[in-house]
This record gives sequence, C-alpha cells and structure tokens, in this order.
Amino acid sequence: MYDYLIAGAGFAGSVLAERLAHAGKHVVLCDKRPHIAGNAYDHFDDAGVLVHKYGPHIFHTSCRRIFDYLSKFTKWRPYEHRVRASVDGKTVPFPINIDTVNQLYGLQLTAEQAPGYFASLADPSAAGRTSESAVVSKVGRDLYEKFFKNYTRKQWGLDPSELDASVAARVPARMNHDDRYFTDEFQAMPLHGYTRMFENMLDHDNITLVLNADYRELLREMRFREIIYTGPVDAFFDYRYGKLPYRSIDFRFETHPRERYQSAAVINYPNEHDYTRITEFKYLTGQMHPHTSIVYEYPTAEGDPYYPVPRPENAELYEKYRELAKATHNVHFVGRLATYRYYNMDQVVGQSLALFDRLTENEESEPPQSQAA
Ligand code: FAD
Ligand code: UDP
Repeated sequence: MYDYLIAGAGFAGSVLAERLAHAGKHVVLCDKRPHIAGNAYDHFDDAGVLVHKYGPHIFHTSCRRIFDYLSKFTKWRPYEHRVRASVDGKTVPFPINIDTVNQLYGLQLTAEQAPGYFASLADPSAAGRTSESAVVSKVGRDLYEKFFKNYTRKQWGLDPSELDASVAARVPARMNHDDRYFTDEFQAMPLHGYTRMFENMLDHDNITLVLNADYRELLREMRFREIIYTGPVDAFFDYRYGKLPYRSIDFRFETHPRERYQSAAVINYPNEHDYTRITEFKYLTGQMHPHTSIVYEYPTAEGDPYYPVPRPENAELYEKYRELAKATHNVHFVGRLATYRYYNMDQVVGQSLALFDRLTENEESEPPQSQAA
C-alpha cells in the first residue's frame, strides 16, 4: 500500500511528490505524457538547441520562500525577460511604457510628463470588470486597439470585453522606462533547464515515477491511501456538469542556421498573422549555438488544455466542480488545471507547498517514517 498516488508530474505534482517523499511518505507519481515537468518541460531539439516544448517559460516570483525552495534543485541564470510588440510597422517595447508611446507617436515625453500624458488618454468612465475596461480606463482606446484588442481575440477566441479584468491586468502600462516584462524581485532561469531541475526534485527512493500512464490505470493495479490530482478538474469527474473551457495552443517550431533570429526574446504580433507571438529560446537560456530555434504560438480551442479561461460563466461552472472536489474524500486537487486558476509557475509552487502543509499539519509530532519502512 502506497501513501499517495499523484496524477501529473508538472510543478504541482512534483513539488508534492518531493515534499511528501522527504517527509517519509511513499509516493507513486504518474503522468500520461512520456516526460516529467508538465508544461515546463524543456529538451534539446534535433539541432541541439534547448527549447520549451509547451512555449516560453520564464521564472519570476516575489516570494523568497518559493525561490529558496526551488533553489535546492537548481542553480540559476539571472535573466530579465523583455518583449517587444510589432505595431504600425514598428517594433516597440511591451508592456506599454514611455518609450512605447514616444516611438509609436513620435513624442519626446519625459518621466515627469508621462503621468499627465497617460491621464489625458485614459477614460475613467470605462472602468469595470472586463479586460477591455481595465485597459481603456488606464490608457485609452487607441492603445487598447493597437496592443490588446486583436491579440486577446486571437489568444482567447473572445473579445476583451468578455474576459475578466485580471487577464489584461497581467501586463499593466507603466509611467516609466522599465521595459522588463516582469517586475518581481526574483527573475531567473534554471541554469540547466526545467527538466533537469525536476529530475533533481524527483531523485528520491520514496518516489516511484510512472510515465505514459493515466492515473486511472494505476488505481486499478495498486492501492493508495490518498490521491493528489493535478489534471483538468472536469475530466476527473467525467465532465458531469459539462466541459470547462481551456484554451490550447498549437506550437510550431523552426530552427534557423544563424546565431540570432529576432531583436528580442519574444515579439508579439497583436494585429498581424494568425499566431500571437514568436519566441527565440536562446535569449531565455543563454545557450551559445551557431543555430537558433524559435516557436510560433497559434491559439486554438481544441487540443491539450493549457489556459483556464477567466470569465464569470466559467467561474460559475468551476464552482460546481469545486464543490464536487471538496466532497470527494481522500482526493486533493491542486495546480493550474485542477483548480482552474490562471496561475504562473511560482503560484503553483506556493499552492502546492500550502497543500503539503495542510496534509502534514497533524503529523508534526510523529517522527518521519524511515525510507525502508
Ligand atoms: P501542468 O504543468 O499542466 O501539469 C499537469 C500534468 O498532469 C500534465 O503533465 C498532464 O500530462 C498530467 N495529467 C493530466 N491528466 C492526467 C491523468 N489523467 N493521468 C496522469 N497525468 C495526467 N508560468 C510562468 O511562471 N512563467 C511563464 O513564462 C509561463 N509561460 C507559460 C507559457 C505557456 C504557453 C503556458 C501554457 C503556460 C505558461 N506558464 C508560465 C504557466 C505554467 O506552465 C504553469 O503555471 C505550470 O506549468 C502549472 O503546473 P501544473 O503542475 O499545475 O500543471
Ligand atoms: N495581451 C495583449 N497583447 C499583448 C500581450 C498580452 O492583449 O501584446 C493580453 C492578452 O489577453 C494575454 C494577456 O494580456 O492573454 C496576458 O498576457 P501574458 O503575456 O501574461 O500571457 P501568457 O504569457 O500567460 O500567455
């Protein structure tokens, strides 16, 4: 009898496997994919360039506890992510900052003038709960239409007026010259990649890893005290209340026989093409290589579930699944798909560490079981 079956070897499942194993529990960690690391999986492509199979993953957090926890399994490469957007024939900094509007409109605004300038564009009467209102109320309709409207329609298959404000609020405009994508205190990439970091995390005698396996197959073959589930919550309940929408992406990779492909790690294309953005991995990884690999992202409704879709009707449907999940004894739901939250990696690590604390809070007085038990 094992203590835990953990379904999914992404951040949620792997952090819990590591913590529980370290606490003396015996854990089977499975994934239906042929690899660990979930959507953070990276690998060397045919040309030998390190690429992220499920799109660009940049680690950033403001939480020291999370950064320190992951630092047990990897060294880091300091990296501050920068993105540019292709708008009106120019490639300008994104999120919108002073230089974005200066370059776009041929202005020479200073940091002192910027707040007044953005205030003159803003439409406070537009304030509300949607992504459209979040942007228009801060920077006005013209910048909204140039940068947000069409990108969002491509990414989500929905107009920004149909999505929660929190989606566009991930990339707020700035009144300064800061052109980094994130402003968190800790911004870095695992020095040898995410997959290597996960390998180090899962290197423990108490963890049995089973790849290419749906957790349901293992439930038929082995016995477990409890289950931790990190896949899509609606799938766990056989879509009892209908499908929860998850957005997917078709990733198309290319390798080019030159050192650099584009002028920034990521270039967004709000208004051109069917893809949203192109990422060039060598910026992220710092790898030296005579070739370079890039990925185009084509958003789709069908395919692997990657993004929960934040809007009121989906929150309502998720709430019904959450009630079911709460009533399902000995099964714990955690991670981006299982709790239907548009979480970054660090947030999933934080959520998983919190679940570990809850799972073990009553055991503190007990000594950990020995590995041979
Ligand atoms: P996942 O990584 O999705 O892992 C869940 C695992 O469960 C999967 O491997 C799946 O195969 C497995 N599974 C599902 N069902 C079953 C089953 N029935 N049986 C067995 N296994 C099952 N975050 C950042 O912090 N920075 C970024 O730059 C960033 N960029 C991103 C870019 C893209 C394109 C995407 C899609 C996400 C990005 N994220 C980023 C978010 C990040 O990927 C997630 O926060 C994180 O990977 C979630 O981890 P998880 O364990 O919850 O889920
Ligand atoms: N967004 C946009 N234009 C851009 C970049 C982002 O409209 O050039 C909006 C879009 O709705 C996107 C959201 O902001 O889905 C969040 O962007 P982020 O880069 O955080 O998305 P992710 O990296 O999670 O795909």
